[in-house]
Amino acid sequence: MHAGTLLLVNALLAALSSALFLALYIARPGAGREPGVLLWSLSYAAFAAGFGVLFAPAFHLDFPGLGLAGNLLIDAGTVLALLAANFYLGLSRRALWVLAPVAVLALIETGLVIHEGENLRHMVILGGALTGVVTVATGVAFWQCKDPAQRPVARLAGLFHFLWAAMLLMRMSWWMAHPQVLAGPDHTSTFGLLSRVVLTWVITPCLLWMLTRKLDAELIRHASQDPLTGVANRRVMWEQGEQRMAQSQQRNTAIAVLMIDVDRFKSINDRWGHDGGDQVLVAIADALRRNIREKDILARVGGEEFMVLLHQAEEPAATEAAERLRRAVESQAIALLHDQPLQCTVSIGYCIARGAEANWRSVVVAADRALYAAKQGGRNRVMRAMEDSPIQPFRG
Ligand code: GH3
Ligand code: MG
Ligand code: MG
Repeated sequence: MHAGTLLLVNALLAALSSALFLALYIARPGAGREPGVLLWSLSYAAFAAGFGVLFAPAFHLDFPGLGLAGNLLIDAGTVLALLAANFYLGLSRRALWVLAPVAVLALIETGLVIHEGENLRHMVILGGALTGVVTVATGVAFWQCKDPAQRPVARLAGLFHFLWAAMLLMRMSWWMAHPQVLAGPDHTSTFGLLSRVVLTWVITPCLLWMLTRKLDAELIRHASQDPLTGVANRRVMWEQGEQRMAQSQQRNTAIAVLMIDVDRFKSINDRWGHDGGDQVLVAIADALRRNIREKDILARVGGEEFMVLLHQAEEPAATEAAERLRRAVESQAIALLHDQPLQCTVSIGYCIARGAEANWRSVVVAADRALYAAKQGGRNRVMRAMEDSPIQPFRG
């Protein structure tokens, strides 16, 4: 294919990708905007400008330094892509040390062009080394993606960066192996430009796919997490509760539900304000989370109400677990800004259910009744539901 056509295709593809990422960046509200997406847009804008500048002679626009300017714009696009991948994937900024030798290479290339004029050999070799280093670093960044949902696509993007770096190495090798070729038509640029078309063609959908996976994960997290404390919400507790209840009936094992309510929380709010109350809720959620097992589920199901679904529900394990949680809250000194640490307590009602007649709703109601009894009994205590195993179906 004609090199001019390939330059144009590259410029148009990059411009389209840039506009796409800019639109995606703008479309998200305030805090949801990702600097990485904006950097991708800027990276593609630099590529589009670079390829556009290299195409300018076709419009009889040609002046000294045009080739260098176009290539430096493409180099800038490559560097911006590295920054974008680094920001988007939340990697350590230390990985950006490669930009130091890259800056030196760019200075040497510019100095050579100023002294000797545009020499294609120097530009391909130095430019290839420069973009090669940055491209490998970008590929490594993609390869290191920690999110399992995005990793397969990120690795595909990383792989194509390595292929692009290999192509650059081949171009540089060709120029080193042909010292007799001084300038003139670059036999390798068509190959290089075609590879760049393929790269953009693959990378842009990969990036869009990664973004979609990330947004999906965010949506699921929003739908299942309590925004204040970060523990699961009521929806998760009800889903898991019903599921585990069915399982326990099949396996004839027991299930325990703990209903936890903070004691005299209104007075905490009155004394330390709503914000202080919120901090107390976060501290209580943390204390509860630290004291349950991995397979247990903790959720915030109301203002100052939490629930725990115990994986291991046999007695005395259930009572011990409930007591452990009560003590964990009681013994925790909660430090509020500018104030003495405060201590608060919780009351816990729990219900152990076993048997085919038990259903999730009735178990929850029984645990709630036990909680009420714990409150009546003086608070800061654990009470077991009387209606345990088997539970009568709830009718009222
Ligand atoms: P008891 O020992 O009987 O449970 O007394 P209590 O003061 O905790 O009583 P109650 O359960 O009626 O009060 C709960 C209070 O929790 C009322 C409400 O203002 C407060 N609350 C509900 N949601 C939030 C929240 O998200 N943040 C804060 N700070 N307070 C909340
Ligand atoms: Mg309450
Ligand atoms: Mg309360």
